[in-house]
Amino acid sequence: MNVDYLIVGGGITGRLLQSELMVRGYNAIVYDKSNANHSTRVAAGLVNPVVGKFFTIGWRSDQYFPSLSSYYRNLEKTLKSKFFSSKPMKRIIASAGEQNRWLSKAHLDKYIDFCSFSHEDIKGLNTSFGVLNIHLAGEIDTEAFLSACNKMLPTQSESFDHTLLDVEKKEYQSFSYKNIVFCEGYESYKNPYFKNYMDVVPTKGELLEIRALGIPKDSIYLGPVFIQFIGNDLWRVGATYEQNQISLEPTSLMRKDLELKLNKLIDVPYDVVNHYCGIRPASIDRKPIMGKHPHIDSMYVVNGMGSKAISMAPLLMREMSDYMEQGIPLPSEVDLKRFC
Ligand SMILES: Cc1cc2nc3c(=O)[nH]c(=O)nc-3n(C[C@H](O)[C@H](O)[C@H](O)COP(=O)(O)OP(=O)(O)OC[C@H]3O[C@@H](n4cnc5c(N)ncnc54)[C@H](O)[C@@H]3O)c2cc1C
Repeated sequence: MNVDYLIVGGGITGRLLQSELMVRGYNAIVYDKSNANHSTRVAAGLVNPVVGKFFTIGWRSDQYFPSLSSYYRNLEKTLKSKFFSSKPMKRIIASAGEQNRWLSKAHLDKYIDFCSFSHEDIKGLNTSFGVLNIHLAGEIDTEAFLSACNKMLPTQSESFDHTLLDVEKKEYQSFSYKNIVFCEGYESYKNPYFKNYMDVVPTKGELLEIRALGIPKDSIYLGPVFIQFIGNDLWRVGATYEQNQISLEPTSLMRKDLELKLNKLIDVPYDVVNHYCGIRPASIDRKPIMGKHPHIDSMYVVNGMGSKAISMAPLLMREMSDYMEQGIPLPSEVDLKRFC
């Protein structure tokens, strides 16, 4: 079978690239092996433009965020599924020091579209230092997204074996391809074509699920950890960051860490009902890695999405498609060339 694009990896990166190429009229098939811990399946799926201790407006947020909800709503129609919700997100200011940090920045124009400060009481949370209401935020149910992709988009549900690839003839098993793109997440260290040209930093993240009553369910709350309502009095709590970790087992140490932070955010009793982890594909300079193989024709890679694929990938996969099909240069910050 002839295909325009053979894509290896069916996480959010591979799937959004596939859907972008298909919208443009190309045929694209995704190889994906079932892997319960891969990053997309485990992700909380949050989109949040205001991040970190210093209330940073994330890199290119002004380009990523304004069109995100319409992008995902259109994708829901194509995939005949519901997985995206725009949802209020409230960052609970933790201390007088944090409040001062915010107040010293609050006048800056760049925050106007992204957040606003208020004093409000929220049942079950300590909000005495105020609340930052984050606009343009939301969440994706990544399980629902992935199962819609598996159902609606061309898929080979099996492991891709690099040793069977014929790069001269551009053939893999029964497929002849024009282009091949690797979107393998943290497992790219096994890829013989790209492993010497890029450093994907596997960054383990652990999450808890808790049962807790009394916290208003209409918002996502951020503090030392986030809490996200997932139905039936259950909340997802996360997440930890541990670089260069590829063990797929959650640990009691990280559970303690999450619970300590959770106890600072909420003041209602809870039970932990689940504890699990996944591995984010991050990069050394915290920017995605996209580009063409330095020596092999028609071979590409997209990786290094770190902890923000849900907000970055829609625009980046458009840029990747423009690059592959029209030769429009990639933004230099993401181009693989920076490592070659
Ligand atoms: C705990 C946690 C919480 C997170 N929360 C958020 C969040 O709230 N918001 C956000 O934007 N991001 C979040 N992330 C990060 C996000 O999940 C990643 O940025 C994103 O999932 C990366 O997607 P990907 O498609 O590049 O990689 P992956 O999701 O890892 O997908 C790679 C795919 O390739 C497949 N694959 C690899 N090798 C082969 C092969 N040889 N053959 C066939 N298939 C192969 C794997 O099985 C996998 O399906 C979180 C991550 C973790 C771990």
